Amino acid sequence: MEDLPNCIQCGSEYTYEADGIYICPDCAHEWLKDPKSEDEEDEELIVKDAHGNILKDGDSVTVIKDIKVKGSSTPIKVGVKIKNIHLVKPVNGHNIDVKIKGFGSLLLKSELVKKSN
Ligand SMILES: [Zn+2]
Repeated sequence: MEDLPNCIQCGSEYTYEADGIYICPDCAHEWLKDPKSEDEEDEELIVKDAHGNILKDGDSVTVIKDIKVKGSSTPIKVGVKIKNIHLVKPVNGHNIDVKIKGFGSLLLKSELVKKSN
């Protein structure tokens, strides 16, 4: 059972929950469960590298694993440095937008790179 709070108006413990609001059967008071959850849309994009370091737009990273690229017979090799990454909303787990010589612009998974200085 979820732990429901007592009514904030009369203190009744018979509060119940419906459609994201709490309702008190004793005094008929209704209130929002959690007003904060309304603006979760603005959540900041958090992108981490293979070691859990947080990456930012403009960071430089190093590839830690060969990455196969669709339409290319050669993978992006371990050790390739990528400058000026751009964070994007994840598309199938691909959350950084990069430009690599010979490959052009593409999306990578941040867990396949590590932050470099
Ligand atoms: Zn009440």
